[in-house]
Amino acid sequence: MPASPLSLAVIGGGQLARMMQQAAIGLGVHIRLLAEGPDVSAAQVIPDHFVGDYTNIDDLRRAVEGSSVVTCDHEHVPPEHLRTLEAEGHIPRPGPGALIHAQDKITLRTELDELGVPSPRWVVAASVDDVVAFGLPCVLKTPRGGYDGKGVWIVRSEADAAEALGADAVLVEELVDFRRELSAQVARRPSGETVTYPVVESRQENGVCKEVIAPAPELAAALADQAQQIAIDVAEALDVTGMLAVELFETNDGRLLVNEFAMRPHNTGHWSIDGAVTSQFENHLRGVLDLPLGPSTPTARWSVMYNVLGGAIDDLESQVGVVLAAVPEAHIHLYGKSVKAGRKVGH
Ligand code: ADP
Repeated sequence: MPASPLSLAVIGGGQLARMMQQAAIGLGVHIRLLAEGPDVSAAQVIPDHFVGDYTNIDDLRRAVEGSSVVTCDHEHVPPEHLRTLEAEGHIPRPGPGALIHAQDKITLRTELDELGVPSPRWVVAASVDDVVAFGLPCVLKTPRGGYDGKGVWIVRSEADAAEALGADAVLVEELVDFRRELSAQVARRPSGETVTYPVVESRQENGVCKEVIAPAPELAAALADQAQQIAIDVAEALDVTGMLAVELFETNDGRLLVNEFAMRPHNTGHWSIDGAVTSQFENHLRGVLDLPLGPSTPTARWSVMYNVLGGAIDDLESQVGVVLAAVPEAHIHLYGKSVKAGRKVGH
């Protein structure tokens, strides 16, 4: 089948792919999905899906048949497989050379130092002695595969350090005394055009994003400009295409330090579906398909995004009417996921 300019392969069937489909419907983009199971969030709404394993190159090859451009719902596709697809004539966006910085936190820290982008002090530790020499308290992280705070340890003692090292958390970072966490997003297309989104504040609970306020309240204009410029500089230096989110700490003494990147739509940009002229999902599709980007201008003075995390209530649908009665201007997005404690099931 010849590749249509408006067809796109998406690897991974989570809520981000599901929300990409919402944008794809309007643009007339055909998405072919590689889903982890027949009932995962995005497979419920994308008819052209097949079930496979994103770590298996043959499954990936089947997923990209008929699409030249390939994008991902998550960061876990092996970089060597993306390079194989590239060698076979497909176009992963973002490319594997960029995506590695969202996959591997040591590669990320090394690159940020080379680019002169401010980030927490760090080392790689081989032993408890190395961690102690760095200085306690500190933060230990697994370089790959972590999400929602899994793979992050706050280390205050030698025993904590031994436990974290035992779980392969070898990246040591200073424990940043931050005032709050911010996120700066930019959309970029291969031709170089970029559009930045307003810098937002994200509030976490137990390492999981709970609430996002757009724009970040009372953020000094100079810091907002600096955060957006960091996002543009990184997107250009690494040749990121589609959406890039830069997660930042605003320190108590008024500095910005980069925590990490996501090279896809991000939880801190969900507000843009209902609160901006062009959502992050639409600009991700426009970016990876090299279509002109849309403005990120907010449509309201403030937008607040609140994650629905699995908890006391199993039957979310029974609450839809209750929430809409209480807050008629709220927009509900449920992900079609089974409810488990702490799992993101909607926003
Ligand atoms: P994940 O890949 O799981 O999202 P992060 O590196 O974003 O991991 O860390 C999860 C959370 O842990 C952050 O949102 C932040 O609240 C906290 N955290 C991470 N790194 C540091 C640090 N160096 N100092 C203080 N807190 C940190």
